[in-house]
Formats: sequence, structure tokens, C-alpha cells
Amino acid sequence: MSPAAMEQHANFINGKWVAPETGEYYSRTNPARPSECLGKFPSSAECDVHAAIKAAGNASLAWADTPGPQRGVLLFRFAQLLEDSKVELARIITLEQGKALCESTGEVGRAAAEARFMAGEASRICGQSFPSERPGFSAYTVLEPLGVVAVICPWNFPVVTPVRKIAPALAFGNAVVFKRASLTPWSAVYITRLLEKAGIPPGVVNLVMGSGAAIGNSLVTDPLIRGISFTGSTEVGLPLYESAARHLASVQLELGGKNPAIVFDYEDLEAAAREIVSAAFLCSGQRCTALSRVIVKQEQADPLVDKILSLVAKIQVGDGMLESTTMGPLVSKSQFETVERYVAKGIESGCKLLHGGKALVRQPDDEGYYYTATLFDRVASDSVLAKEEIFGPVLPVIRVRDVEEAISIANDTRYGLAASVFTSRFDVASQCLRRIQAGMIHINHGTASQAHVPFGGRKDSGQGAFSIGPTAKDFFTNIKTIYGKW
Ligand code: NAP
Repeated sequence: MSPAAMEQHANFINGKWVAPETGEYYSRTNPARPSECLGKFPSSAECDVHAAIKAAGNASLAWADTPGPQRGVLLFRFAQLLEDSKVELARIITLEQGKALCESTGEVGRAAAEARFMAGEASRICGQSFPSERPGFSAYTVLEPLGVVAVICPWNFPVVTPVRKIAPALAFGNAVVFKRASLTPWSAVYITRLLEKAGIPPGVVNLVMGSGAAIGNSLVTDPLIRGISFTGSTEVGLPLYESAARHLASVQLELGGKNPAIVFDYEDLEAAAREIVSAAFLCSGQRCTALSRVIVKQEQADPLVDKILSLVAKIQVGDGMLESTTMGPLVSKSQFETVERYVAKGIESGCKLLHGGKALVRQPDDEGYYYTATLFDRVASDSVLAKEEIFGPVLPVIRVRDVEEAISIANDTRYGLAASVFTSRFDVASQCLRRIQAGMIHINHGTASQAHVPFGGRKDSGQGAFSIGPTAKDFFTNIKTIYGKW
């Protein structure tokens, strides 16, 4: 590890890198080699959060008054800086998050694309005009920034998720307090440096690093915070929503998922298997949109499972920095233990283990949090494997008789984020499109989203305006109606 990587990092408040008031730091280690320290990061407390919110509040009016196209110029610069930093930033993602380097490189490219889209949006902040009932009057709406927004992110996409929130927040004229996940602080520092380099004025973006338990509450309950864009687990998101409601802050929640792949009378099972395995095991299954259940028509189950199995067997688990690796370690000991627990439950309950189901190391704390890609067949639709979000490399297959049963099982979880349907039949596709309760449905491909298309979930998977693309403005702006007699 280079000495630069071992540095002690700081919070970024009011345009300055400052030590936390607590004077306390924690170490983030590499999940591929947990004895390797990547750097020391602030363990901030409430006073640091208050300083960040105050700085954002002070900067917010001037930023809101900066013309949108000028804000866009700075965001285009930021997007270019992301592109230019792809190699270095991808390396940081892999070192602290664990995913394979090619995935990290793709993540930075995607973040740049989303930032670019939002840079353009800053020139398209449009209201509506209305014909007036009364002569000599005009009636129209304008969109204004919320003010100060909190951006709270998970660790699985440590670059694209913050950029997905910070870029639209800035484009629409808001000031930001950014809270990254404790497991991925280094990427957050790097992104913040790029925003600084792009020329975002002091106080407009503030990074405060501390655990959710220590600083989360003071962030979401501060009355100056007018919007909270949160991505993370449903368990954390629900109480956060309640706290924000007490001061009527706007909330955008992007939460967990248990995303089904329905395979029903599909001609190209080879292609379906490829899409499913990729969407299930990228990022070691630690993606909110990971396909985490296959629901297949009985008659197609054997050939599909064979094809999935042969692809799963080829997955190369290893250090994400190695070119040969197609699946990195899990992000932390806690994720590793969660996966172990679910696999044990699956085996106990009689699901048929076809592949994996075990750790690849004896001493994960020394050797890395490596777990095999795991495939279960003949899983009962009420099994925990079929209903709960595992957030790991575990794929259960459920066999069904007809489309009705497939749709009913697909909908039988608390989640409603994404779904894939593989079918050559128009009637099956259209029935699934109408009846599956999910924010995003993919026909005949996996759950890959695009950088300019709305993204979000239903049920316990999300709340509020979809992120990405044109719907971002629905969260990051307030509408104001103006009547004028000129
Ligand atoms: P998490 O434990 O819910 O944490 C998410 C963020 O919330 C982290 O920054 C965390 O900080 C913070 N936090 C924790 N407690 C808090 C509190 N009381 N108040 C305010 N913030 C608090 O989720 P995760 O383990 O990082 O991420 C995995 C989950 O995210 C999965 O459920 C996944 O499905 C979901 N996810 C959803 C989407 C989507 O778009 N729908 C995308 C990605 C991930 P600390 O890290 O310091 O605890």
C-alpha cells in the first residue's frame, strides 16, 4: 500500500478539510486482506454535523442564486474529472469495497455519465405557464431548490450512489451534507476532492464522516435539513422516514430488494442463464437490484438450472485487484456472517444445494471475506432464501406450474424494486408487466439500469421520487406558483 493511502483523512466543512471535533478516527481495512489498513477516517459526532449543516445553510442562498447553466458548467467539469480519475478511483473502490476492478471501472464511468446528465439538467429547470381565467393576469410555476439536503449512502456503490444524489442536488441549486457509509470512506473523500477541484464553492458540499449510529439522528432531525435522499436498508430507512416526517422534510428512500427473474416459455435459455448469473453475482450479489430469486416454469427448470450451474461454476472468486477475478470478497465480516447464516438456514430447511455454500477461507479475518457463488434448487416459495434480502452471492431457484403462480410468488415479499422476465410469449410478458409489483421491470435481460432513465422501487423498496434522469427534479426542487397582474 502506498504511504498516501495510509493517510489520516478529515471532514470537509465550509470548503476546508478539518479534523473532527472528537479528535477520534477509525481504520478502514481491505476486505480482501483485512489486516491491511487503507487509512484512518474521522469518527465524528453531533457537533461536526451541526458545523456541516450550518456551513451548508450559509452557502445555500448564493448557490441557489447562481444561474443553473453556470452550476451546470461546474458539474460538467466534475464529470470530466471523474472520467480522468477512472483508474485511480476504481482502484480505491476495489480496495475498500472489494468488487472486481473491471466493475469498479464501470462504476466510475457510470457515475460520470449520471453527473453529465445532471449537468445538463441545470439548464432545464422549467416550470409551467397557464392561461389565466382573468384578463391581464399571468399564472405560472417555477422550480426552486429545497435548501440544504442530506445525502446518506450505502457501501455497495461508493461512487455512483453519492454522485447520483450530489449531482442533481447541486444542479437544482441545493447545498449538501454528505454522509458516506462507514465501510467506504475513502471513495467519499476522493469524490469530495473532485467536487472541490471542479470549483464548487465553499460550504455547498460538506462531507462529515461518522457512523450512522453516532451522527445519523442529528443529521435527519435538524430542521435546516429540508430534504433527505437516503439509500440503504429498509430497516434503517423506515425510522429515518418517521424522524424526517416530524419536521416535514422531503424524503427519497431507495431501499432493499428481493428481485425475481421469471423464466417462462423462453426460447433462449442460454442467454437467460447468462443474464441471470451476471445480475445475481456482480458485486458478490451485494446490489439492491441483484436478481436474487429465479422463478422458472417446471418444464424449463432442468435445462435452465444446468446452464446456470455451469456458469456459476466458472466464477473466479478472488482479490478484486487481480485480472483473473470475476467475483471479489464480501465487503465485511458482518456481510460474510450474514451469508453464512442464510446458507445454513437454506440447507437446514431442505433446499437442494447445487453449488458453493461455503467459505473459501478458514480464517476470514486474516485471509479475506471470500465466499463461494452459491446456487440452490427446489427452494420452497416460503423459504427465507426466497423471501428475505440476503445481499450476498446466493441464488435460489423456485419451480412453478403456471404464470399465475410465478407472478404470485414474485409479489410475495415485502420488496418491490426490480424484476426480470424471460419469455418468448407476448401474453406472458404483458401479464407480468402489468401485475408484477416492482418499480422497474426488464424484459428478456437482467436488471442493468441506464444513466438517464428513472430508477426506484415500490412497497418496502422505496418511497418518493425516482432518482436518475428527469425524475430527480421531483425530489430536489420545490414548486412555487406565481400569479401576476402586470
Ligand atoms: P444501511 O446499513 O441501511 O446503511 C446505509 C447508510 O445509512 C449508511 O451510510 C449508514 O451509515 C447510514 N445509517 C445507519 N444508521 C443510520 C441512522 N440511524 N440514521 C441515519 N443514517 C444511518 O445499508 P447498507 O448496509 O450500507 O447497504 C445495504 C442496503 O442498501 C441493502 O438493503 C440494499 O438493498 C440497499 N441499497 C438499496 C439501493 C436502491 O437503490 N434501492 C441501492 C443500494 C443499496 P454507517 O455505514 O455509518 O452505518
